[in-house]
Amino acid sequence: MSVETTVIGAEGGCSCGAVRYRLSSEPMFVHCCHCLDCQRQTGSAFALNALIETSNVELLGRAPEPVQVPTDSGHPHDIYRCPECQVALWSDYGRRQVMLFLRVSTLDQPHAIRPDVHIYTRSKVPWVALPPDVPAFEAYYSTTKQWPAESLARRKAILGK
Ligand SMILES: [Zn+2]
Ligand SMILES: [Zn+2]
Repeated sequence: MSVETTVIGAEGGCSCGAVRYRLSSEPMFVHCCHCLDCQRQTGSAFALNALIETSNVELLGRAPEPVQVPTDSGHPHDIYRCPECQVALWSDYGRRQVMLFLRVSTLDQPHAIRPDVHIYTRSKVPWVALPPDVPAFEAYYSTTKQWPAESLARRKAILGK
């Protein structure tokens, strides 16, 4: 994972401070997602998601609450938001409960984590230029080909595959 320095112990939270969290591991992998859903849901050009075990995100304040959003695939997608200020902290794709897509920019040091892959670049806004040294994919990608072995082992431990 592209982590400048360790983010173990790094904290983050929503805008009002009701939801606070602390990471107890590095992320398994980090997506910069250029899909149209992420663009709409963030109101921006892409979403930056750190994939991490739910058990490695320690809640220090109130728990964010799930809001279900529609998906093209039909698989459930819950966005967890602060119950007060409604800022989105993370997503649970597929309602698996064990793995979060943490919104990287909610960290107090939001530049501490860089993406490992750019995905769904087919819908990337034309004025965002991608770095040549980070793999980029038109749509999704092969987890087994891109993830480091250690991260695949962590993923298998929670998802069983
Ligand atoms: Zn809040
Ligand atoms: Zn996306």
